[in-house]
Amino acid sequence: GKVLVSGANGYLAIWVVQTLLERGYSVRGTVRSEEKGRYLKEYFKPFGEKLEVVVVEDISKPGAFDEAVKGVDAIAHTASPFHSNVEDPRDFYQPAIRGTVGILESALKNGTNVKRIVVTSSTAAVMDPPSKPTTFSEKDWNMGSVKAVEEKGKKSEPMEIYRASKTLAEKSAWDFVEKNKDKIQWDLTVLNPPFIFGPPIHDVKSLSALNTSLQYWYNMVVADTPKTKESLSGSSSWTDVRDIAEAHVRALEKDAAGGERIIVNGGSYHWQDWIDTANSIQPSPIPSHKLPRGVPEMERVYLINYDKTKEEKILGIKFFTQEESTRDMLADFERRG
Ligand code: NDP
Repeated sequence: GKVLVSGANGYLAIWVVQTLLERGYSVRGTVRSEEKGRYLKEYFKPFGEKLEVVVVEDISKPGAFDEAVKGVDAIAHTASPFHSNVEDPRDFYQPAIRGTVGILESALKNGTNVKRIVVTSSTAAVMDPPSKPTTFSEKDWNMGSVKAVEEKGKKSEPMEIYRASKTLAEKSAWDFVEKNKDKIQWDLTVLNPPFIFGPPIHDVKSLSALNTSLQYWYNMVVADTPKTKESLSGSSSWTDVRDIAEAHVRALEKDAAGGERIIVNGGSYHWQDWIDTANSIQPSPIPSHKLPRGVPEMERVYLINYDKTKEEKILGIKFFTQEESTRDMLADFERRG
């Protein structure tokens, strides 16, 4: 079969492409420019014609994916803005929502072979960061961020805008399916990953140009910035990028995933856990005197936890451990200098 992957040059998407190609699928990836396509063609050269790259300049434009969906059996829609360079909520809402609805509209119109569409949502669409330990499930929706952005407008925090954009994009996907249920011959699966960490294989020009989630990990665990109880106090959940890629492939293949929203959570963490892990790896990929020690004695509270029942039942991923992911990230960072 052939799978369309949107935003194929991204941190997560290129791992999705790799996993699909290794599994024998053909892939059509969309990117915003020829230049971004060249890296992909070069990286996946051994797969030859199995990878096709097409340019979709503006995913918000009506009909943007009309050509790209032709002849594919399934779609993984990952493209969505995730960075902090945002001034107006509309800068995220437009591509996140219109991009998602647009690819579904194109699939309805021209995707005659399409059987399954997987949309990459986020736990940002599930939870509003809590102040006491909380376990969230697929029943939860983060409407708090949407409301906060409605109130604060352009004064909203970038990450608040990001979270709201993911809630609204996912909601619009489910609404589209509900409205068109008599006309569509495919079904929808939504994956909700927490923070994604793990080694990058996309085009990272320098360590200061890492994608948002990896940059965060690098700053917290490796960078020589002040590490105090306050700065390290954040806790959240995470999954290795290779596991999320695998989850996309399983979501395309497993019947039971149809119509489901699935949280794909590798585990909870406190930032000091990552620092401890980095310091404990032998042999250390980064000379250990270069790694921060943090505040090992600090108390650790895990605020954000997820119910894993649905993921275990439908996808059954065997997750990378903190040690494995840390080792591979440190080795990658050391190589890049
Ligand atoms: P990246 O920034 O590495 O990739 C984002 C992709 O989306 C790129 O291909 C990018 O294209 C494309 N994109 C961004 N903005 C636009 C836009 N305005 N118009 C068209 N395309 C756009 O991020 P990730 O790989 O981390 O994220 C991939 C998906 O996973 C997103 O949907 C994100 O919300 C979701 N996710 C990520 C998590 C994480 O921790 N990384 C956690 C949970 C969900 P270009 O390179 O041209 O900018």
